[in-house]
Amino acid sequence: MRKPIIAGNWKMYKTLKEAVDFVNEVKTQVPTNEKVDAVVCSPALFLPTLVEATKGTDLAIGAQNMHYETEGAFTGEVSPVQLADIGVSYVVIGHSERREYFNETDESVNAKAHAAFAHHLKPIICVGETLEEREAGQTVSKVASQVKAAMKDLTAEQATQSVVAYEPIWAIGTGKTATAADANEVCGEVRKAIAEVFSEEVAEQTRIQYGGSVKPANVEELLSMEHIDGALVGGASLEAASYLKLLEAGANA
Ligand code: PGA
Repeated sequence: MRKPIIAGNWKMYKTLKEAVDFVNEVKTQVPTNEKVDAVVCSPALFLPTLVEATKGTDLAIGAQNMHYETEGAFTGEVSPVQLADIGVSYVVIGHSERREYFNETDESVNAKAHAAFAHHLKPIICVGETLEEREAGQTVSKVASQVKAAMKDLTAEQATQSVVAYEPIWAIGTGKTATAADANEVCGEVRKAIAEVFSEEVAEQTRIQYGGSVKPANVEELLSMEHIDGALVGGASLEAASYLKLLEAGANA
């Protein structure tokens, strides 16, 4: 039985005060982490404050990106050592916005996955196809190759601890969700790719999220699908009430 994981991806939204108000409201109402893993991935600037504010609660804090080197002359970057040092739990890796606008590649995503495990951070590895790729019938080959590249040379144990987020790019921030059946089919292909690299047993344990216009109105149906173990949520994770509804659906899935 895979425990559902609901992760909010705030992207470049919120002021510090808005972020703190959000976690203070949510942390007292978050369902037990025996039922659902609740994560908020905030802008890097807010991480120390949010980690402090959520200590001892069932709300975990994640980063949205990091460098793969432990330190160095990389102006503007944040290292895995720095994230681990302040108590961050998760890190989103290879989000399509980073692949598109910040030159993230399959190779850097893989280096970051290794760096995450080296510093006891749990990676949420994002994969997904463009609209053109979907229309050309390349969804499965694109997503499978991204999964295999991202998880290259991880140990089986690390693979089971990874979270893979399948996010069709055409569904992100557009209000267009993949149908639950389509999303489940591709998440099943993600699981198949993991089984090919590692084993069926590993693939059965690895959690796979769907992301792309997930909201309280569609989350239950998505989470009811066999291969969908959670959601990575942008827009609908910004309001506490909406985020709490997503968590509730996760706890009941
Ligand atoms: P969205 O974003 O929920 O606003 O579509 C999802 C994501 O980019 O992770």
